[in-house]
Amino acid sequence: TLKGTGSGTLPPMLQQYVAMRDEVQEEFPGALLLFQVGDFYETFGEDAERAARLLGIALTHKSSKDFSTPMAGVPLRTLDSQIEKLLAQGVRVAVADQVEEPGSGLVAREVTQLLTPGTLTDARWLSADENYLAAVSTGEGYALSLLDVSTGEFRCAAFHTRTALYDELSRWRTREVLLAPELSGNGALLADFQARFAVMLSPANFEEDAAQQELQAVLGEIPATLDSSALRRACGAVLGYARLTQQGRLEMVRRLTRFQPGAHMSLPDSTLRALEVFAPHSPQGLSLMDVLCETRTAGGRRRLRAWLRAPLLDALSITARQDALEALYAQPDLRAGVRALLYRAHDLERLAARVSTRRATPREVAALARTLELLPEAAELLTPFDGLLGGIRARLSALPDVVQAIRGALVDEPPIRAGEGGLIREGYSPELDSLRAEAISHRAWLAELEGTERERTGIGSLKVGFNGVFGYYLEVTKAHAARVPADYHQVATLKDRARFTRPDLREREREIARLDAAAARLELSVFTELRDTLAAHADALAEAAGALADLDVIAGLAEVAAERGWVRPSLSDGGELSLTQARHPVVEYALMGGGGGQFVPNDAALGPQQRLLLLTGPNMAGKSTYLRTVALAALLHQIGAYLPAESATLPIYDAVHTRIGASDDLAGGRSTFMVEMSELAAILHGATPNSLVILDEIGRGTSTLDGLAIAQAALEHLHCCGAHTLFATHYFELTRLDAELPGLVNLHVAAEEEAGQLTFFHQVIPGAARQSYGVEVARLAGLPAQVTARSSELLAALSVQGDDRAIRQELAALDLSRLTPLDALAVLHRWKRSE
Ligand code: ADP
Repeated sequence: TLKGTGSGTLPPMLQQYVAMRDEVQEEFPGALLLFQVGDFYETFGEDAERAARLLGIALTHKSSKDFSTPMAGVPLRTLDSQIEKLLAQGVRVAVADQVEEPGSGLVAREVTQLLTPGTLTDARWLSADENYLAAVSTGEGYALSLLDVSTGEFRCAAFHTRTALYDELSRWRTREVLLAPELSGNGALLADFQARFAVMLSPANFEEDAAQQELQAVLGEIPATLDSSALRRACGAVLGYARLTQQGRLEMVRRLTRFQPGAHMSLPDSTLRALEVFAPHSPQGLSLMDVLCETRTAGGRRRLRAWLRAPLLDALSITARQDALEALYAQPDLRAGVRALLYRAHDLERLAARVSTRRATPREVAALARTLELLPEAAELLTPFDGLLGGIRARLSALPDVVQAIRGALVDEPPIRAGEGGLIREGYSPELDSLRAEAISHRAWLAELEGTERERTGIGSLKVGFNGVFGYYLEVTKAHAARVPADYHQVATLKDRARFTRPDLREREREIARLDAAAARLELSVFTELRDTLAAHADALAEAAGALADLDVIAGLAEVAAERGWVRPSLSDGGELSLTQARHPVVEYALMGGGGGQFVPNDAALGPQQRLLLLTGPNMAGKSTYLRTVALAALLHQIGAYLPAESATLPIYDAVHTRIGASDDLAGGRSTFMVEMSELAAILHGATPNSLVILDEIGRGTSTLDGLAIAQAALEHLHCCGAHTLFATHYFELTRLDAELPGLVNLHVAAEEEAGQLTFFHQVIPGAARQSYGVEVARLAGLPAQVTARSSELLAALSVQGDDRAIRQELAALDLSRLTPLDALAVLHRWKRSE
């Protein structure tokens, strides 16, 4: 049915529309069908009202004698941009094209494209970044599968807990997620999911049988690594959904990688956010990715993000990357050569995927050839190296010579579309050449016709013209009507002239049309053959694309290291971290650009003798920055990069846990304190002796005493666990813990107060800060003088009370029956001192 008024049956075209719309709705609920009618793509009925709203276009009516329905359409030439608008609003789009020339009856139409945010392959709508479609299912634990149809990358992983799954999912750029019914059917879970991930949710088939069939069809088998039903269902669902949107073409998917989330350094979502690895906190800010990404290709950019998502755990792989980086770091000319070459490369990974599905346009095939031509040159540059660079060279050289096949067949600047001729090079196909030659001779005859006829008829103004309605014609002005020869047949009369044709002219014209059509068909078949040849090399192309991406990342990181004075870190065997003159890569970069002063480098040391650094100092002194500097150094070390310091030695951490500041994640509706505590809980449960833990201002969200108590207990717990911990706090009471917890070391950030003016040096030095300067910072921030003065007064009184309370508590806890007189004296002495 179609929304509208009137009783009559629908006209045939609308019947066709309704049938197609319903079919699309079945697979893609909520999708909008754009239906070609001549030069427009139309929507009807309720969909027309929706389209008018979504696109801001005019709503009109389609009326036949006894039926009228709303109608809204977009012109053909704006179709791409309108589709983009719909996708951006999270609307799936189906496009039905006319698939035959309009005649007298109903035109045949077919759905030729199904566009959803997570399954785009066309450069028109894709950014250069990754575009994953994900599926999540559950059974024993949770399963996640990820597919980027634009590159064919297909992976999956299993998780014990939902938290682990969410942490993983948050680090992938998914545009669309398929949730298994057992998850999407659970209202609370669904709401929680939607609060965490602002992503389009689409329904898909998660049945085990269907999944097995999909896997079989695409991969030729059900991989043994898919050892649970949840995994098979997630992988099958993704493939099934992708198949629908790709009209069955899934050749770009060639293998499935099962990854072990534990095989990499664990970076919980809170860490990625706190360290601003992929996205800055504020839109004006910079992320680590932003300052690290000196890559030259889209594939390299995607690969760098993949490295950051999964820092390494084994020393050999880290060293291999560092060695490769060092080679390019140490040789500026070589680095410049590699980068200049990469600059000329197109997105090989995507081109390889397009070729494998035989979708590549002539332009894309030409771009592929241009890029492939660079590979021998790149391999040549890498000749002297073994190790990682040697591996890259091998992968770049393993490609059979497809360039020649492309260059031989295709013209240098082919048209965008394949069907219209003009893409095959002369001399490639004798048959094509003779068709073309014949057409040319007919055209030459036509070109001469004007001259010969002027001579024959004596009409100097006679013209040969062409139009779409009756083809070639001879045109004579009325003044010369009498001189028109008898073999001319009049086909049209205009105000002051007439148009004629002639049987032999018709004949030539038909012949040219026939030859052109035959040539175009032949060109298409040559091109299709070429595409098939290329598709047969899809694996080698994907390998080369991967190698190029790796090379790009290495060259980019080497460039960053060389330009900004970074060093190669060395691996400590004793589990020690030692950074000399370390800087925060993002803050330093921002200072460099803004001319806003110099970054103050600092040292950091962690090891068996000092596992817990307790950092105090006024607000704004640089505590957070110091903490993050250390955490980012660990991250950079484990992706194999250099880092901003004068020298650096680091252990391999199994995880970086962070809890920084009272951040703004109120999105989930939980109070800040609740968020803080649940993140702290996750850290205390998850930290091992090999973890790096960064805690900033724990316990802020509650009353001072609660906060202090929780902070101290957390410190004690971490001390017991043995993780390397950096702890920034404004609770001075905690600085006394150095007497009780061996391995706890007090540090503070230098600041100086002079005549009520506070100066920050951003310098981290041993020992606890003497005071918090909270009131001074408040004054800096512009609090009225009376308020800051009163604050100072209250502070003095509260400090005394605080000490009193601490003493009373300790007194109550003293077991006098077991206290020696000497101990008692020592306690008294300490109280006296702390007063
Ligand atoms: P805190 O955590 O002590 O409140 P932050 O680390 O947030 O302080 O730093 C406060 C400001 O000082 C930030 O704007 C930061 O850019 C700047 N800053 C911090 N450390 C340094 C440093 N080592 N060199 C230069 N500027 C710094």
